[in-house]
Amino acid sequence: MPLQKIVETLVPTATKEEVPKLFREPHVETGFRHLHQPWRYYILSLFQIHNECMNVWTHVIALLMTMARVAIFAREFDLIYDKFMWPFTACLLSMLVLYMCSSFAHCFQNKSELVHYTCFMIDYAGIGLYGLGSVIIHHAYCLHPNMIASFVHSYSIPVGVILAILVCICCSISKTFYSRPYPYTRRLWQVISVVAVYIWLILPVWHRVHLYLTDQVPWDSGMGHHIQQMMWFVAGGFFFGSDIPQRFFPGKFDFLGHSHQLFHICIMMTSYKQLDAVYHDLKNLRNEPLVKLHPSPTFYNTFGVIFLVIFVNILSTLFFREVAKFKIAKESKCS
Ligand SMILES: [Zn+2]
Repeated sequence: MPLQKIVETLVPTATKEEVPKLFREPHVETGFRHLHQPWRYYILSLFQIHNECMNVWTHVIALLMTMARVAIFAREFDLIYDKFMWPFTACLLSMLVLYMCSSFAHCFQNKSELVHYTCFMIDYAGIGLYGLGSVIIHHAYCLHPNMIASFVHSYSIPVGVILAILVCICCSISKTFYSRPYPYTRRLWQVISVVAVYIWLILPVWHRVHLYLTDQVPWDSGMGHHIQQMMWFVAGGFFFGSDIPQRFFPGKFDFLGHSHQLFHICIMMTSYKQLDAVYHDLKNLRNEPLVKLHPSPTFYNTFGVIFLVIFVNILSTLFFREVAKFKIAKESKCS
């Protein structure tokens, strides 16, 4: 049966009054998928018009773009056997996991209340992991030599690991300990943990920008891309926190143009410009004779910490899934 025919057999989407409170979004009126459908319904719904459709597609496209870039980088660099490239490969891995987790979360979150909580915890686990990947890559290739052996650089990886785990824990707290309509403090749990890891990963770049602004280093080819990366991140934060444009036109951006989709696009561009910037820094580093990375890349300080954070974030997700089960049972007793 052609895809169009299959999609036509799917249940039409619902309005906000027809779905439980947990699934409603502020200023979104229509296009809700139904709960308790078979898994294939949620996969096929990617070809249906509903209010999560673009949230999935934006990060599926980001995932495909990242995969394409991995293939291009693999033609130029030895991403597996050259230790110099391990921080780069570890970050690429975290980026792929981020986009997989996010696409998965938005695709399946309407299946049930427990799946909804679990999906977003998986999303948070991916965000934390990508934070660590970015800490590794920036502290390996993007720092000015006079930052080597500084406190920040010496503790970049262990602090990055802790912050990556905290992102997953704090965002999971924000999801399970609060109920709709969410108070502002809930956003703080998410924003503070994500901003903390971002500050940690961006410090080497800020330091370089500071050196440039105080005439201590010349402009270099990576700097413009780093600045664009920061601008995309700030734009992403704006859309994430503002509910603009839908707050001014409720119901008008249910399918296309919702702030969460714009946030996804900004994150996609942040990672895209990040790779451009690191590519230039890497090339500039490689042009210097006898260049060595500090600390020199090992399995432990690249892939090892990535796998460690994946493991801890899985444990954290399983723990908060139990918390969510308890919350769902309690709420169903009360209602
Ligand atoms: Zn999202």
